[in-house]
Amino acid sequence: MVDYIVVGLGLAGIAFCETLRKNDKTFVVFNDRSQTSSRVAGGLYNPVILKRFTLSWRADEQLPVATDFYTQLEQFLNVKFDKKLNVLRKFASIEEQNLWFEAADKAKLKPFLDTKLVNNENVGLKVPFQFGKVLETGRLDTKFLFDSYENWLEEESKLYADTFNYNELKIEQDFVGYKDIKAKHVVFTEGYGMMQNPYFNYLPMQGSKGEYIVIESKGLNESNVIKSSIFLIPLGNDLYKVGATYHRKDKDNITTEEAKNELLKKLDTLLDSSYKVVDHVAGMRPTVKDRRPLLGQHPKYDNLWLLNGFGSHGITIAPWAATSLYNRIEKEIPLLAEMNIARFIED
Ligand SMILES: Cc1cc2nc3c(=O)[nH]c(=O)nc-3n(C[C@H](O)[C@H](O)[C@H](O)COP(=O)(O)OP(=O)(O)OC[C@H]3O[C@@H](n4cnc5c(N)ncnc54)[C@H](O)[C@@H]3O)c2cc1C
Repeated sequence: MVDYIVVGLGLAGIAFCETLRKNDKTFVVFNDRSQTSSRVAGGLYNPVILKRFTLSWRADEQLPVATDFYTQLEQFLNVKFDKKLNVLRKFASIEEQNLWFEAADKAKLKPFLDTKLVNNENVGLKVPFQFGKVLETGRLDTKFLFDSYENWLEEESKLYADTFNYNELKIEQDFVGYKDIKAKHVVFTEGYGMMQNPYFNYLPMQGSKGEYIVIESKGLNESNVIKSSIFLIPLGNDLYKVGATYHRKDKDNITTEEAKNELLKKLDTLLDSSYKVVDHVAGMRPTVKDRRPLLGQHPKYDNLWLLNGFGSHGITIAPWAATSLYNRIEKEIPLLAEMNIARFIED
C-alpha cells in the first residue's frame, strides 16, 4: 500500500510529488508523455501580464513559493535548471511608456516594474521606444528539469513510464486498486490529457494550443528575454526560442506551417539580424473556461483528486497549488473557492 498514485508528470505532477516527498508520503507516478505542454514551455516565470501591464492571478503570493520550491529542487537533484534572466518589454509608443509608469505606481506592481527605462544597444533589434524591465523574472530549462526528475524517480523505482488505464482503476471505500498497486489516494495531474479521464472530463477545460520555433542567429548576441508581440528567449549557443502562439481550434501537439508563419511575421518586426529556424514544437496548455485552476475532490469518490488547469502560468502556479491540494487532503484545510472544482457541477 502506498499513500498516493500520481497520474502525469508535468509541472503539476512534479510539484505534487515533491510536496509528498517532503512530507514523507509514499507514492508512485504514471507518465506517458502523451502531453507535451511542460516540456515545450518557454519556461519563463514572470509575474506581469505584459500585454496590459497587470499582475497575473495571485502572482505575488505564488512567486515566492515557486522561487523557494525550484531552489530546493535544484539542491535536492544537484542540478541547475533555473536561470535568472531579465525580461525586457519593447514599447510600441510613448503612450505605452506612460501606461508602464502608471502601472508601476500601483502597490501590487511596484516590486515588479522598473521605472528606469532601458535603451536598446543591440543593433540586431528594432526598438525605437526603449524597453521596460520586469523584475524577479527568469527561465527554467523545463526539459532538463523533467529528465533529471524522471532519473531520480527511476532510481527510486517510483516511475511507471506507461499510460494509466482508467478502466483498471478499482475504487473501494478507503483505498483504490490499480493492477497490483494499492493506494490511499489518486491525484490526477494530466494537463490537457484530463479530457480522456472519465472521472473529471465533465469539467470545462478548453485547451489552448501553443507553438514555439527555435532560431539560430549568430550575430544577435542578446542575453535578455525580449517581449514584443512575441517572446524572444535566449537559450545559449546563439539559439533563441520564439513564441508562442495561442490557438483554440486544434487540440493536438502537432506543429503547423500556419503557426510558424505567424511567428516569423512577428519576428520580422523585431529582428534586424539574419537567422535560420532549427526547431519547432507544439503543446496544449490546460486552460479553463474561467481561467482559474482546477483543484479538488471528485464529487462522488473521496479518494480521487485533481490538480490541473494551470493554463499559461504553470511554473509559478504549480508549487503553490500543489501545497493547497496537499493541505486539503491531509489537513482538511479548505481550498480557495475560485479554484475548487466544486464550482462546476457534474451533469
Ligand atoms: C508553447 C507553450 C509555452 C508555454 N510557456 C510557458 C512559460 O513560459 N511559462 C509558464 O509558466 N508556462 C508556460 N506554458 C504553460 C505551461 O506549460 C502549463 O501551465 C503546464 O505545462 C501545465 O502543466 P501540467 O503538469 O498541468 O500538464 P502537462 O505538462 O501537460 O503534463 C501532464 C502529463 O501527464 C501525462 N498524462 C496525461 N494523461 C496520462 C495518462 N492517462 N497516463 C499517464 N500519463 C498521462 C502527460 O503525458 C504529461 O506528461 C506554456 C505552454 C505551452 C504549450
